[in-house]
Amino acid sequence: MRRLSAKGMQLVTLRQRHTDMIQVIDSLPHAGEREPDGALKLPGDAVVSTRPGLLLAVQVADCLPLLLVDSKRRVVAAVHAGWRGTAKRIAEKTVGRMRQEFGTNPKDVRAAFGPSIRRCCYEVGREVVEAYQGTFSYYDEFFSRTEASPSEVHWQQPLLTDNRELRPRPGVTAPPGEKFHLDLVAANRRQLQAAGVPARNIWTSPLCTACHTDLLFSHRAEHGRTGRLMGLVGINQP
Ligand SMILES: [Zn+2]
Repeated sequence: MRRLSAKGMQLVTLRQRHTDMIQVIDSLPHAGEREPDGALKLPGDAVVSTRPGLLLAVQVADCLPLLLVDSKRRVVAAVHAGWRGTAKRIAEKTVGRMRQEFGTNPKDVRAAFGPSIRRCCYEVGREVVEAYQGTFSYYDEFFSRTEASPSEVHWQQPLLTDNRELRPRPGVTAPPGEKFHLDLVAANRRQLQAAGVPARNIWTSPLCTACHTDLLFSHRAEHGRTGRLMGLVGINQP
């Protein structure tokens, strides 16, 4: 397998909206908008293609970027999986589309999970737990629950919003009580396995975006003023 070269490739980005909309591109031109730099921009949160010369991109700053490759059928996909998209099973549905459109056998799919906010830093509200509860019978595998003690209340919140400043900040306190942490990686790994992708084919970056703002972008840890990480996948031109 040759290393992917971005030279001469057409960049395809997504107008991501936390949906389960999947774009399938097997021909050009496509009815999409072009960016000033010539990149094609399509609405949706996943893009699948068999066409050599396209560089499929997903952009994130805490959400999980997920890249899928079926090297037998030569199908690639880029997926944006935040908590909403994950609850809508976007990863599982993307493997389904690869199967449906191009005959992908899920056993041949290899997946890479890029850096994202991890369980350590991803505190979520009860509404997120409830959304997953209604969707996944095994939802409790993805959440850890802690009881916030008064001292933790002061420490935890600055840690979540700016991990370079671990001091209590006036006015920033979480209400005492239960707190939930979501593991997006576990939820998406479970979906891929449910779709038939072998666990040994799933590679996960060890990096949490909120723990590594020196290196990565984190929407939550940097108060929304941050950049985006781009995950790219494509098929070299012959
Ligand atoms: Zn973290």
